[in-house]
Amino acid sequence: MDRLSGHCVSPVTDRLVVIETSGVRLDGRVLPLEDTRVTFPAGGLTADGEVLAVVPLDDLGPGGLLGFVTDVSPFHPVDHGWPDQGPDRGVVSISGVTVEVVDVVLGATDGHNLLIATNIPVRRGEPGWAFVVVHVIGADQVRPEVGERVQLAVDAAHRDALGRGHTACHIAALALNAALADRWRKPVPVDGLGHPNFDQLALANSRIRPDGATDVYRLGKSLRKKGFDSADLPLAELTAAVNARLAGWVAAGATISIEADGPGLTDRRTWVCTLPDGQERILCGGTHPTSLAGIESIGVELTLDDAELVMQTSVARRVPAPPADVSSAASRPA
Ligand SMILES: [Zn+2]
Repeated sequence: MDRLSGHCVSPVTDRLVVIETSGVRLDGRVLPLEDTRVTFPAGGLTADGEVLAVVPLDDLGPGGLLGFVTDVSPFHPVDHGWPDQGPDRGVVSISGVTVEVVDVVLGATDGHNLLIATNIPVRRGEPGWAFVVVHVIGADQVRPEVGERVQLAVDAAHRDALGRGHTACHIAALALNAALADRWRKPVPVDGLGHPNFDQLALANSRIRPDGATDVYRLGKSLRKKGFDSADLPLAELTAAVNARLAGWVAAGATISIEADGPGLTDRRTWVCTLPDGQERILCGGTHPTSLAGIESIGVELTLDDAELVMQTSVARRVPAPPADVSSAASRPA
């Protein structure tokens, strides 16, 4: 999906080629085999954490990068195995000095080594391994020490924008399922609203960005075998149907929650969204708002590219009315 990388991968993640090499520990300790406790699923933005490991992510020369792991973190990391939602942005306070967190990536440890990004050799849940949040900072910054406490703080506006984009992505997929429901000739699994789950059966790639998303669906032979008729898709008609349904849902409102099996990074989490037409549950490791209240509208654009259907989803944010300026009103001459 190289053609998508220009606008779908965050520039921060994009330049960190070096994170795909395994880290060498700077300290002599062995990491505990426990997943990082994460607070982002419940909307956490700050945490006071103990540093468990510090690893160089390259040769630490000019422009070099350092990663560190804490027992608890509010930062959502990018998972290079399914990199739909990019990393949170934010800062860490180390010995009272504020340092920018330039990237946040998924790491895995067998207790002796810390492997990150695409270098992780095991799946989540593999016995003898723990999955951790690796915070990346410049190697020329103040260096955290193992055992010291640091204060982590996520950029709230960026988090909110990614959350709106991610929820819009899931809701638009439900509207697309509904619009394509009559093109199935065989019974297939349905979504929570009762429509054949085109999104689940055809999704090849998903990228969340602030207030938007791009989803790529494969309309190949295997989808046809499952009974989907992809001939002559009326794109304008489908786009209008999806957008009309989305407008109705945004106007009616929805409640959204994240159910988590536990506080660990790899504990199973589910996006639960109650719409006027029913409730959908999607396994999801991302971050989301608790309602559609901050959203003015959600719109999609559908395009066909060879055997792929591409859905661009964008969110228009509801801008809160500015507070009345009490002081100037009070001092205004009569
Ligand atoms: Zn998701």
